[in-house]
This record gives sequence, C-alpha cells and structure tokens, in this order.
Amino acid sequence: MSDVVIVGAGVIGTATAWALTQRGITDITILDRDSVGSGGTGKSAGIIRCHYGVSSVAALALTSLEFFESAPDLLGADIGFEQVGYLVGIGPENVDPFRASLANQRSLGVETNEISASEVAELWPTARLDDFATFCLEPRGGYGDGYATAQALAAALRGRGVVIRQGAKVSEIVADGDTVTGVKLADGEVVPAGTVVVAAGAWSVPLLSALGITLPVQPIFVQEVLIDPQMDLGAPPVFSDLVAKQYVHLRGGEMLFGNSAGDAMIPIPDPDVYPNHASNDAIEAVAEKAIHRFPGIEDPRISTTATGVIDATPDNNPIVSATGYARLFVAAGMSGHGFKIAPGLGRLMAEIVLDGASSIPNVPAADFRLSRFDEGDLLVSPYVYVGTTGIR
Ligand SMILES: Cc1cc2nc3c(=O)[nH]c(=O)nc-3n(C[C@H](O)[C@H](O)[C@H](O)COP(=O)(O)OP(=O)(O)OC[C@H]3O[C@@H](n4cnc5c(N)ncnc54)[C@H](O)[C@@H]3O)c2cc1C
Repeated sequence: MSDVVIVGAGVIGTATAWALTQRGITDITILDRDSVGSGGTGKSAGIIRCHYGVSSVAALALTSLEFFESAPDLLGADIGFEQVGYLVGIGPENVDPFRASLANQRSLGVETNEISASEVAELWPTARLDDFATFCLEPRGGYGDGYATAQALAAALRGRGVVIRQGAKVSEIVADGDTVTGVKLADGEVVPAGTVVVAAGAWSVPLLSALGITLPVQPIFVQEVLIDPQMDLGAPPVFSDLVAKQYVHLRGGEMLFGNSAGDAMIPIPDPDVYPNHASNDAIEAVAEKAIHRFPGIEDPRISTTATGVIDATPDNNPIVSATGYARLFVAAGMSGHGFKIAPGLGRLMAEIVLDGASSIPNVPAADFRLSRFDEGDLLVSPYVYVGTTGIR
C-alpha cells in the first residue's frame, strides 16, 4: 500500500508529489493513463506572472515564481523558464481597477510597476500602442515549459523513491463507506492507498461523480496560432493585451498568439474529443488582432496552430480541497492558469492533506474549497476588468 496515490501526472500531480516529499512523505505512487505531462500540461503556453486580483491566487503565483527561479538548483534540470518579463496593456475603462490591483499585488510582495508607452515601445518597437491607457511590467515574469517542468519534477521524484506508473488508467476510486482505500485500474488491478489525490484535470469529473461528488468543471476548447514574424524581435516580454484581448510571446523566434476574448472559449462535452488544429474562424480572429497590434511586422506568416483543453470552474479558479470522503482530495479545475501556480498549488494540496490548513502567506486553504460553489461564495477578484475573462 502507498501512503499517497496521486491520479494524474501533469504539473499539478507532480508538483503535489514534490511538495509531499519536501515534507518527508515519499511512499507515493503517481498513476497516469498516458504519460507524464501528456495532458493540458504538455500543451500549455506556459505564461508565468503574478498579475491576479484574487490575493490568494497572486500569492500562489508568487510562491511558484520562487520555485521556477530556483528550479535548476532544486531539480538539477533546465525547466525552460525564460524570464523575459510580463507586460500588461490596458484600456481607459480599466485604469482604476488596474491600479488598485497593482497596489494590492505589491502589498503581497509582487514586483510590478506601471510603465509608460515610450518604455513599452523600446521593448516591443513593432507594436501599435495608441489605444492603451497604461501598462505594467512584471520583470520577474515570462514563460516556461509545462512539459519540461513536469518531466523534471518526475525525474526528481523518482530519485526520491516516488513510483510513477504511466499507461495506468484509473477507472474507479475505491471506498469503504465514507473512507477512501485506494483506486482500481482499468485492467482490474486495485492499488491500495492511505490517501488519494485526484489531479486529473477535466478527467477528474467522472472519477468523482461515481462517488456522488459533483465537480463543477467544464472542458473548454482553446486555440492558439503561431506566426513567423520573418524578422528578429529580440527577447521582448510576454505581452498581455487586454484591449484587443490576446496574449503573445516569442518561442523559438515565432510569436505564439492566444485569443483571450470570452467568445474564444468553446465549451465541449468530452475533453478527449476536439480538433488538433485551429479553425479558419479562429485563425482569422487571431490574424486580425495580430495585424492591428503589430503593424511594424511587415510580412508575418502563419506557421502553425495549436489546440488544447482547459478545465474551467464557474469562478475560473482552482479547486484544491478535501471532499466528502475521508482521505480523498482533489486538485482540479485549473481554468487555464494552472501552470504558473502549480508549485505553490502543489504545496497547498500537500498541506491540506497533511495539516488540513495552509501555511503559505496570504493563501487561506478555504479560498479553494470545493464547497464554495454550493455556498455561492465564489473566488472572484475585487478588481474587475471590464470586458476580459475572469482569470485576472
Ligand atoms: C493551450 C493551453 C494554453 C495554456 N496556457 C497557460 C499559460 O500560459 N499559463 C498557465 O499558467 N497555464 C496555462 N494553461 C493551463 C495549464 O497548462 C494547465 O492548467 C495545467 O497544465 C493543468 O495541469 P494538470 O496537472 O491539472 O492537468 P493535466 O496536465 O491535464 O494532467 C492531468 C493528467 O491526468 C491524466 N489522467 C486523466 N484521466 C486519468 C485517469 N482516469 N487515470 C489516470 N490518469 C488520468 C492525464 O493523462 C493527464 O496527464 C494552458 C492550457 C492550455 C490547454
């Protein structure tokens, strides 16, 4: 029997295991139906920032940032963190909540400063900036590599004695009354466990519903477009454009564009059934926004597209929680921003499992409880940006 079985070897499952090992728990088995990082983790744009209006989410991102910065020492591997900075541009209608959010972020310890259009023009000389009211720059932000991070965590975990079983699909969580005792695999094998943590993204829903636990998690199809600028853009910061509602960063010289408008988020019934390329409509929407924002790029060419599924909750914030069953926990519903908060969130999950509470500064465990949805007590930012989706 393992002390802890974790279902899902994405960045959340591996980060949770890492945090447990930091607390001396190494008798852990991670089970994945496919392979390490094969889910949303391997498809992530990997943007890293602390710009959140919800204090506990900003604080999780800050804790995670410290991990990303020290990952080469901690894990002995390059996880692909490119600390190019994170830039936000905002329209006039959102200046007041933006400044209030920045003040709150700084009070939590986030390094973020308002900067002028002329400073932005030095960073992104190809960009059109006249429709923004103001900007902020988080110099410690940037982008990482979800797949490399999960793989590096997995390698370090194996070194600490953690067992990672790939191709091991969990078909059922096994309970004796209201206490969980293990999991059953698709081939019938039962893996006994003292504690089970379900970290299987949108696939967590059917595993928990079989026990009568409703997880309000909706799979959402997302589409990204890679554009070859055919010119050297240097190493500018990740650009979160909250006017055109898009994000862009450079990856290997190409620009990775995501459409952050609400209508670009397409709910789907099955997280395993979606196209592996963006639609013509999605490509056109991205191209239009890209051309508007970057008139200084004279001959851009679409090189490819990427798609994936995010696991969204009604308040676009994660569930990191105990359940109605003793020794059964869940870390799911990352809502499209699970990579940048994964190390902190893994620590939070480990602390809920071991202590029932959080010791992370400014991160009350109760913020992420599953019951908040039934209670109508959603985790939302007090600094609402009009016209943007709720992950800021
Ligand atoms: C296109 C895209 C762009 C994104 N961009 C960003 C970004 O810029 N910044 C950011 O912070 N976040 C981003 N995200 C979100 C982030 O990548 C995810 O929130 C995060 O990777 C989720 O990790 P996870 O471990 O919860 O889930 P996953 O990585 O999906 O892992 C779940 C694992 O569970 C396994 N599994 C499922 N069912 C079972 C079962 N029955 N038995 C055993 N194993 C099972 C799967 O195989 C999978 O490996 C993006 C996501 C997408 C799709």
